[in-house]
Amino acid sequence: MIRAVYPGSFDPVTNGHLDIIERSAKVFDELIVAVLVNPDKKGLFNIEERVELIQRVINHIPNVKVQYFSGLLIDFMKQQDAKVIIKGLRAVSDFEYEFQMSLMNKKLDPDIETTFMMATSKNSFLSSSSVKQVATFGGCIKDLVPDEIIPDIMKKVNNL
Ligand code: ADP
Repeated sequence: MIRAVYPGSFDPVTNGHLDIIERSAKVFDELIVAVLVNPDKKGLFNIEERVELIQRVINHIPNVKVQYFSGLLIDFMKQQDAKVIIKGLRAVSDFEYEFQMSLMNKKLDPDIETTFMMATSKNSFLSSSSVKQVATFGGCIKDLVPDEIIPDIMKKVNNL
C-alpha cells in the first residue's frame, strides 16, 4: 500500500492542481492533499477555506483526502505514515526550486522519495497567483479553476 502526499498552498486550488491530483490518485493507493500553513504569507483564502474548496472538488475521487499542516513536511509525512511526496512541474522555472527542496527533504529523511508529475500543456501556464490576478481585475477564470469554486473566488476578490 503506497500512501502519497501532495503538498502546496492551494490558494486557491486550480485545474492544474486537480489534474495532478486525479493522475496521482491513479498511480498511488492513497493520496493526501496537504495544505501548508505559511505564517509569513497571508493568502487570499484562509487555511480552512482552502481545505473546504479542495474537499468540494475531490469528492468524486474515493482514495483522496485533504488535510492542512504547519511545520516541516517531513514531520507531516511521518505522522501520516507516507513515504512519497508528489510535486507538479510546469516549466524549467519550477525545476531549480523543487530540486533544491527535494534534496533538502532527502537530507532530513532519506526514506522519503519526491516524485514529479509533468503539468499537461493546457495547464502549464496556470498558477494560483495568476488566477487571483485575473479574477481581481474582473477577467474570466472559467477553465482555470473548477466551475463549482468560481463563485467563491469572485466573491472573495470583490470583497477585498
Ligand atoms: P502555485 O501557487 O504556484 O499554484 P502551489 O504551492 O499551490 O503553487 O502548488 C503546489 C504544487 O502544485 C507544486 O508542486 C506546483 O508545482 C504544482 N502546480 C501548481 N500549479 C500547477 C499546474 N498548473 N500544473 C501542474 N502542477 C502545478
